[in-house]
Amino acid sequence: MDAAICIGCGACVAACPNGSAMLFTASKVTHLGLLPQGQPERHSRVLNMVAQHDAEGFGGCSNIGECTAVCPKGIPFETISQLNRDLLGAWARNGN
Ligand code: SF4
Repeated sequence: MDAAICIGCGACVAACPNGSAMLFTASKVTHLGLLPQGQPERHSRVLNMVAQHDAEGFGGCSNIGECTAVCPKGIPFETISQLNRDLLGAWARNGN
């Protein structure tokens, strides 16, 4: 539940050379996806949140790691890996 402590400060986005908001997005997707109450929308949530991330013009993650270095809550880089696992699962479920 480390991801649940994200405060949405945006420091991760500001620090990222790609202007990626993946650590923030991953924090929200991950903490909601791990809760029993979050299961019914787990797949649609990750698809919609990543689509909105891209639609807003944020850059892609290229594993630089500046986000975790500046995150005041110490949210780990592995949170983005969890997002990617959820995204792959949602794509597989939707036949993409
Ligand atoms: S820097 Fe950390 S606490 Fe702030 S928005 Fe990004 S993930 Fe959330």
